[in-house]
Amino acid sequence: MDELTIIIPGIATILVLLVYYLSQPRLPIRINRAFLGILIAELFVMLTEGAAIYVNVRFQTSNMRELLYAANTLFLLTHIARSYLFFIFSSMTVKVYITKRSLRWLVRTPMIITTALLLSTYQFGTVFSIDRKFGYTDGPLYWITPACLLVYVAISVCIIISKRQRISEPELYGALGFNAILIIGSVLRIYAPHSLTVNLFTFIAVIIGYLSFENPGIYLSDRGGVFNKRAMKAVLEECIGNNSTYRALGFVLRGYMEERRIYGSSQIDRGITMISYYLKNKYPKHLIFYLRNGHFVIFDKEALNIFRIREELSERFRDTWKTRDTDLFLSVSFVKIGAESNIKSADVVIDNLIIALEKIGGSAITDNEMLDLDNTNEIDEVVKIKGALEYAVDNDLVEVFLQPIISASTGQTIGAEALARIRDEEGKIISPAQFIPIAEKSGYINMLGEQVFTKTCQFVNSNSFSKTGIKFVNVNLSPIQCMRSDLSERFIAIMRKYKAEPERIHLEITEQSMGDFDAIVKQVDNLKRAGFRFSLDDFGSGYSNLTRLKYYPFFNVKLDMDVVRDYCSNGGPFVPNLMNALKQMGYTITAEGIETKEMADKMKAIGCDYLQGYLYSKPLPTEEFVLKYSRIF
Ligand code: C2E
Ligand code: MG
Ligand code: MG
Repeated sequence: MDELTIIIPGIATILVLLVYYLSQPRLPIRINRAFLGILIAELFVMLTEGAAIYVNVRFQTSNMRELLYAANTLFLLTHIARSYLFFIFSSMTVKVYITKRSLRWLVRTPMIITTALLLSTYQFGTVFSIDRKFGYTDGPLYWITPACLLVYVAISVCIIISKRQRISEPELYGALGFNAILIIGSVLRIYAPHSLTVNLFTFIAVIIGYLSFENPGIYLSDRGGVFNKRAMKAVLEECIGNNSTYRALGFVLRGYMEERRIYGSSQIDRGITMISYYLKNKYPKHLIFYLRNGHFVIFDKEALNIFRIREELSERFRDTWKTRDTDLFLSVSFVKIGAESNIKSADVVIDNLIIALEKIGGSAITDNEMLDLDNTNEIDEVVKIKGALEYAVDNDLVEVFLQPIISASTGQTIGAEALARIRDEEGKIISPAQFIPIAEKSGYINMLGEQVFTKTCQFVNSNSFSKTGIKFVNVNLSPIQCMRSDLSERFIAIMRKYKAEPERIHLEITEQSMGDFDAIVKQVDNLKRAGFRFSLDDFGSGYSNLTRLKYYPFFNVKLDMDVVRDYCSNGGPFVPNLMNALKQMGYTITAEGIETKEMADKMKAIGCDYLQGYLYSKPLPTEEFVLKYSRIF
């Protein structure tokens, strides 16, 4: 009985692990099935070992030779099966799936040989025999079962090492550690076959495998127990690897960042948790993923009634989500994808989906529209622009176009705005409205902005600049650039390098970025101290706030094109009054988007200092601008 008391805690622990594992949400992927197989085999090894010991202890008293044979054979058979499962699991940790039939039989050979030898034991006493006096006795090939495990571990280690680049470093250590423990266990079994601590090693290996690859936490999002992006990647990889079909409906909470600002992070987090639970309960048969930033995906390998689900969700989102403290009004936009998309990389499928979700999440697509990733050029378009952007930035090919700024009082060109341009493969210009948002999301805006700034510095220190007689060039600064803690340092260094006078450069920041002003104020202050002046761009397009304006270092306000256009067509007292207030606060004012003489006259009449627009000129390549505006002395 003493021996049994060692086994019982092991059985209890593996049972707890098994029950816990089964009770957690699990992905239907192969590595999980292999691990479940290991857990069950581990349990059977312990149970059959217990049974064999139990019978052996009682052997002397009653004659149970056949039973003892059966118990030990069963125990060693489960042992062999477990060795094979350890190997299958190990190869899956590096995403090696042995699907070829011939190869499958080849890797089963050690298992088959060991099994055959074991089954011959009854007749020939090869692995063990049952002595009438002592019960279980080792045969000449007693070491064959641990040797079988050793062979599998050796193949596993070779596979893991050769495919190590497929997994992260901690995963690699997990996979190798797990096998190292198995080596110790099997060597011990060969040299000390009756030590019961051997099971302890396989048990430790199971725990390492669990913590490194099977811990449900690694595949679960932290909101509401749905799966995360890593889980989606694992499932997609398997679908793509098997060439099997899949369908998915993604949706995004529209204006997610804005909503976070309005409701507060914790409220939105609660909302996301509620949505996750709702989806899990409503669609228990489908997989639900939450990919962060308000992006959800409902996924299935087979049938997914995308249109019905979309209808149901649209309906649900018409209602509010009641958290403890508030009612959240959330709206959603949808994207659908399917295996037809022909993309052979899970990363690319997920990237495209996220790009699409970000795009529709920030745009005005209505509930009833849905972006279809299989039938759309939009994503290709984004990917193309991203490619052109990276190419231009990496090869210093970002071009600077200049658009004149006119003094309203003299009618003379007094300055210019520098506007970035890049080209596609055919040399056609891509509009900043398309590439700036992409550059901001990918971080490329920093290098792009620096190139525009560098080229502007070179220009304002050149003869060409003097020839045009203009006094300043405006450079646009994205709030993303200002969030970098080294922005001012780098800009000041560039300015010094090209000996550009800072008074000749005005930096434009859009009104939208005032929401983030606390985050950017330090860089703006440093730049101001270095002598740069600041313009507020696109004023009137967002939540214009006159009271707060005085805390910011602007000297000039640029009225947004839409505000100018609206006033010029519809009149009304708002714009003139706004202008009065701004003038009293000491700002000079620029009107953007002046396309006709009437517009220019109207804006001049209400006191605009500067005018900019197609009436005077479209943005021109720098050389053309210089040719057009050079003064002939
Ligand atoms: P923005 O700074 O407000 O620039 C003015 C935009 O209005 C320019 O568009 C210009 O071509 C356009 N525009 C000027 N006059 C007229 C007109 O009379 N009618 C019409 N319909 N449009 C006019 P563009 O060059 O496409 O640039 C769009 C936006 O992209 C810019 O708006 C600016 O926010 C951003 N951007 C451009 N270059 C850069 C850059 O180097 N860095 C950053 N961060 N943003 C940039
Ligand atoms: Mg601007
Ligand atoms: Mg503007």
